Amino acid sequence: MNQLPSHLTGGHFLLGETDPNLVFTPEDLSTEEQQITETAERFMDREVFPRLDALEHQEPGLAVKLFKQTGELGLFALEVPEEYGGLGLGKIVATGVAAQLSRLSGFGVTCGAHSGIGTMPTSYFGTELQKQKYLPKLATGELMAAYCLSETGSGSDALGMKTKATLSPDGTHYVLNGTKMWITNAGWADLFTVFAKVDGENVTAFLVERNFPGVSFGKEEHKLGIKTSSTRRVVLDIVCVPVENVLGGVGNGAYIAFNILNFGRFSLGAGAVGGAADMIRTATKYALERQQFGKPLASFGLIQQKLGEMSARTFAAESAIYRTAAMIDAVMANGEQLDLTDPPFPRGMEEFAIECSIIKVSCSEALYSVADEALQIHGGYGFTEEFTPARATRDARINRIFEGTNEINRLFIPGTLLRRVQRGRFAFPAAAEASAKVSVRIANETNPLQAVANLLREAKQLALLMTAAAASKFGKSVSDQQEILAAISDIIIEIYMVESALLRTLKAIGRGHTAGVMTDLTMSLMNGSVARIAQRATTVAVAMASGEEKDSYLKLVRSMLPWNPVNEVEINRRIAMRLCELGSFSLLAGSESPVVR
Ligand SMILES: Cc1cc2nc3c(=O)[nH]c(=O)nc-3n(C[C@H](O)[C@H](O)[C@H](O)COP(=O)(O)OP(=O)(O)OC[C@H]3O[C@@H](n4cnc5c(N)ncnc54)[C@H](O)[C@@H]3O)c2cc1C
Repeated sequence: MNQLPSHLTGGHFLLGETDPNLVFTPEDLSTEEQQITETAERFMDREVFPRLDALEHQEPGLAVKLFKQTGELGLFALEVPEEYGGLGLGKIVATGVAAQLSRLSGFGVTCGAHSGIGTMPTSYFGTELQKQKYLPKLATGELMAAYCLSETGSGSDALGMKTKATLSPDGTHYVLNGTKMWITNAGWADLFTVFAKVDGENVTAFLVERNFPGVSFGKEEHKLGIKTSSTRRVVLDIVCVPVENVLGGVGNGAYIAFNILNFGRFSLGAGAVGGAADMIRTATKYALERQQFGKPLASFGLIQQKLGEMSARTFAAESAIYRTAAMIDAVMANGEQLDLTDPPFPRGMEEFAIECSIIKVSCSEALYSVADEALQIHGGYGFTEEFTPARATRDARINRIFEGTNEINRLFIPGTLLRRVQRGRFAFPAAAEASAKVSVRIANETNPLQAVANLLREAKQLALLMTAAAASKFGKSVSDQQEILAAISDIIIEIYMVESALLRTLKAIGRGHTAGVMTDLTMSLMNGSVARIAQRATTVAVAMASGEEKDSYLKLVRSMLPWNPVNEVEINRRIAMRLCELGSFSLLAGSESPVVR
């Protein structure tokens, strides 16, 4: 096992500047990696979208048939190890595929729940026998998987579950009783990872087969969106589960549940990028075709502003996803194991928990906003089911709720940072007295990308200072200061997303590209971002202190965030015009940086 470089440590991005050459970008995708994504893209265009109506109305058997076809193409085998019939590839490849499959969000949810939170528990926590029995069939899609954590009374408070598991007197099996709520794929799945409490307290994961006696299902939930997917209750009534089907050891269920969710959150973000890119293409096409006042909509400044901002948010999301995917892959490849479950699980699953939550929150909110703006660009037609933004907007909404609500993820980000500080895994920097001096240089910086880099460096200091100040002021009860934690979280999220866009742009420039569009996308982001960072930092300062202390915090906020605003009107117009020339987000972002690997 090799010593990993520091940039491969979770949360490290807050501690300093990252070398753009260490960051993976979509422009680094190999031809083979692109081809796998293109397979998924063709499949969606040829097989899935032509059946959209029937899928949305849950035509019996159709979703499962398309699911099986997806499996035949090898798209569920990507992350399954080769020795169990998989391809042994990593997150980089899985990202492009998730983005494509999630262009129809409900179908993406079906596939993502199977290959992610459904298959991964067995893949990472299974015994040799469990892996041999289930993984080859999960990799081909012969079996469909589901993940059963939530219950009627416990969603965010997942460990408050009531489902019980009792060891039989002869020690051969556990008897499970309880009801799991909101289970994706429940209508069709064959294998369920069910979390239950042994002896009323030891949360434990079990592999439960659909045909085990005592397993039954509620009716399909009548949902706002992702209608293509199946969501039902899973009822466990005296279900006998052999002890061989305990996953990861008795009492280790929380590690499994939460570490699997890290990857679930990452995949959700990858899917959101695909959905957002699709909405940008749809909105651009409509804006070019639809005429009002004798001109196409795309010629109006307010439509251009929307297209520019939609593109900038999606650019950041895509940049952050690939950056994180490569870091996860690198740590997974290193092979380090955490000895918390039986068998142990890879450190790579939990190392980037903070980044995965950032991605979950930011990408889900970006997708919702992009879909909503695409609907707005369609005017009254957007409010009808005749055009796709209505469905996309309904579909996008769930992403802020499942895989841990965005509120819970916002609390998790600084909470995890503080836990890591306590355990000596993360060091707060010394007080940033030097910051005021640096600020003068920042304000005078004429290179726009350098100005972004400088501002991010200061914003990181500010985020860490505020986290440390909150921890010292409130001590153990800091977790009760939710509004403060969420505001700090928002600052951290802004930093990671803008920095990901910046590093991608700098890497392209380093390769000799002018990267004009990428620079515009980054500057469009930064302008909005700096205002949000200042607002959130002010919220923290005012909530945390009063009198002179408050004044000095506010002074610090102002001194650490000087920014010469750029002309975002001009920038968004330029982005929109280029987008209209090229017709799609992927062409826009990739237009200046051809593949080099
Ligand atoms: C379509 C769909 C598919 C799903 N698929 C699955 C699946 O496959 N497997 C599975 O196990 N689960 C699944 N879920 C469940 C999902 O993960 C939960 O709905 C989610 O975790 C929220 O739990 P809840 O609905 O009980 O809301 P609650 O936990 O009751 O939360 C309600 C509101 O209160 C907020 N809140 C809760 N606690 C706090 C707190 N401490 N501080 C501040 N705010 C708080 C929440 O953010 C939210 O806004 C699915 C849900 C849906 C709708």
